[in-house]
Amino acid sequence: MSRDWTPEELQAASDAMERAGQMGYKEFTAEVEAIDKIVRFARRQRDFRFPCPRCGCWVMDKDPIRNALSRRAKVYICNRCGTEEALEDFTGQREPLSTWDIAQKENWPL
Ligand SMILES: [Zn+2]
Repeated sequence: MSRDWTPEELQAASDAMERAGQMGYKEFTAEVEAIDKIVRFARRQRDFRFPCPRCGCWVMDKDPIRNALSRRAKVYICNRCGTEEALEDFTGQREPLSTWDIAQKENWPL
């Protein structure tokens, strides 16, 4: 059974999560929206030429599988971004999906 949270309760829970080093409510919502965009885009990725969904650069090979497969989602990204994700994993400093170009801009074909 679920209940509706008041805005004050939600903010208090979000603040507590952030103090504990977790994502707050706004970050979590942005991540969910980013995942939704990435998943919808990934289904169409082979249908047309596209920029890298992570950085937005037009450097992708026209054959998606000749690019890097993201470590964060089942979507192809440019090779430079693939290397950056590997380095993020090595250092433990992952960038959130909400920072991807596809999550930041409205003009992506989804
Ligand atoms: Zn890229």
